[in-house]
Amino acid sequence: MPFRIVESEARTILSPVSGFILEAGFTHSLTPARNCTFGCTYCYVPTMRFQGGLKPEDWTHWGQLTTLKRNAAELLAKSLRPTQRIYCSPLTDPYQPAEAEAILMPGILRAVIASPPAVFTIQTRGPLILRDLDLLLKLSTRTCLRVGFSLTTNRDDIRKIFEPHCATIEERWRTVAALRDAGIDVSATLAPLLPCDPAPLIDQALRYTDGPIVADPFHVRSVKRSGATTREPAAAICRHYGWEQWLDPAFHQQTLETMRSRATAAGRIFAWGPSGFGYLSRPGTSREPAESDKLGAVLP
Ligand code: SF4
Repeated sequence: MPFRIVESEARTILSPVSGFILEAGFTHSLTPARNCTFGCTYCYVPTMRFQGGLKPEDWTHWGQLTTLKRNAAELLAKSLRPTQRIYCSPLTDPYQPAEAEAILMPGILRAVIASPPAVFTIQTRGPLILRDLDLLLKLSTRTCLRVGFSLTTNRDDIRKIFEPHCATIEERWRTVAALRDAGIDVSATLAPLLPCDPAPLIDQALRYTDGPIVADPFHVRSVKRSGATTREPAAAICRHYGWEQWLDPAFHQQTLETMRSRATAAGRIFAWGPSGFGYLSRPGTSREPAESDKLGAVLP
């Protein structure tokens, strides 16, 4: 999909969190851009409108443009504190397609390496993250770095319908495996859970990751009384293909329980909602920083 990149000078870069992300244990979010060029049909962000810091052209042209915070790294250098638990990002994907030419994340990662917070979590579905592997490895010696990598289904035909601008499922698992093999603390985030075969999907997560497995179904208004919900195009796709059960909270619960049983039988943690994402907000399986790399050490 063609997209437009706009650049802006932001006034702030870290925002105190509320709702789901606060419940998950984070203190701040870091959003390097407004709007996301993956443009997923289910993305809840455009349903937040002004609350999500968006402008009308963002929710009317979701995925067709992104506005980069060009001064993100500079602002971060002034805003980072050692006690922060930062989630990057609830409002865009830091490795969205536009990042390939924008190249904003390396500067952000260098700023975080220089002033590490307590926890830095990157949530992405972009194999482009591997471009920054050296910086991620450096950061993982300075703080608790967690990567949540989004896998939404085991079926690429389903992926193409709901998220045609995202990498294939196979490439995403290859990326997860590459991060893990390099020593990055990576969790599979099965979110949102699209129509899938739950057992093969959970088996892939068990095979390619070592840490907790996190999931989240579509957010539907009948159970989520306020705040962001799954975007209408995804609900329309479910109705068109006869997949309405994937919008049904009772079916969600049953599917998640089935997946949890399978993960638990393999000795692994499987959780969803804020308690699931909570596993990404605290130190656990991360490596301890080496003494020479702790706060205040000289950077290259
Ligand atoms: S990658 Fe995430 S933020 Fe971007 S469009 Fe998809 S769901 Fe929304």
